[in-house]
Amino acid sequence: MTDSATDITSIRREPPPLVPVVVAARDELTPRLLQLTFEGDGLATMAAPEPASSVRLLVPSPGTDELVTPKWNGNEFLLDDGTRPALRTFTPLRVDRDAGRLDLQIVRHPGGAVSTWAEHATLGAEAAISGPGSGYTIDEDAERFILLGDETAIPAISDLLGVIPHDAAVEVHIEIVQPDARLPLSEYPNASVTWHVGDEGAVPGGRLVEVVHGFDGLLETTRLWAAGEAASMHAIRKHVFKSLHVPRSQATIRGYWKPAR
Ligand SMILES: Cc1cc2nc3c(=O)[nH]c(=O)nc-3n(C[C@H](O)[C@H](O)[C@H](O)COP(=O)(O)OP(=O)(O)OC[C@H]3O[C@@H](n4cnc5c(N)ncnc54)[C@H](O)[C@@H]3O)c2cc1C
Repeated sequence: MTDSATDITSIRREPPPLVPVVVAARDELTPRLLQLTFEGDGLATMAAPEPASSVRLLVPSPGTDELVTPKWNGNEFLLDDGTRPALRTFTPLRVDRDAGRLDLQIVRHPGGAVSTWAEHATLGAEAAISGPGSGYTIDEDAERFILLGDETAIPAISDLLGVIPHDAAVEVHIEIVQPDARLPLSEYPNASVTWHVGDEGAVPGGRLVEVVHGFDGLLETTRLWAAGEAASMHAIRKHVFKSLHVPRSQATIRGYWKPAR
């Protein structure tokens, strides 16, 4: 008889190892975004990340100071007591493998294991990083890119603006929860950037969904990249693929986080 639990656990490839890092710098970019620079010799062995890729950051579990490395059980990382570690996904920026250094920009929101840790992390604080995960392949022949995201996607959008060929036009829409969450993005000559401030208590990503509902379709030479709160990305995916019939190859739409149930 087949053990379905075994079936599930046997299909996931083990992620790259967690390498120890320490906090080497801390910058408050905005009241909503904190940048931490991490250093660790092990980062030198990490594969070069693609644009808008990801790494997983492990920090001490809430209420503890000690960094405990979880074990891969074939399906997920778990601590010895069976609980899930404080291990979350972020976008690596300014990765310098020779120097063993990278930056993460972390949204400051209440109740987050990593967000709360980052708020209080002092220089030298210990963490660990696994990665990178896959990112986005830029179509060098595209004439126009539309980049959409909420605050969690600001680092990825900045990363993409740094690598999109300069002869393409770029339209950026970012939803933020308060006006002072705006910040300068990577320099890009042809980008038009619109910041949408969500109304208090509004559904996250609602402004981004409205933007997409304003599209009549996408020209073949346009590429769409979107990331943010999962339900809003689901709504965007539905409109783009089902209502506008945009081919899958033209649009990448990724859920980055889920609100508490
Ligand atoms: C590929 C990828 C790249 C990502 N890149 C980044 C990045 O560069 N920067 C970044 O900040 N995030 C990024 N995220 C999203 C990030 O992984 C999640 O927001 C994560 O839940 C944050 O962890 P936490 O420990 O702070 O909160 P958790 O402990 O995971 O969550 C605690 C509570 O906070 C809520 N919550 C989680 N995130 C938010 C939020 N942004 N706003 C409001 N409430 C929230 C949860 O619903 C939950 O109720 C990325 C996700 C993916 C998949």
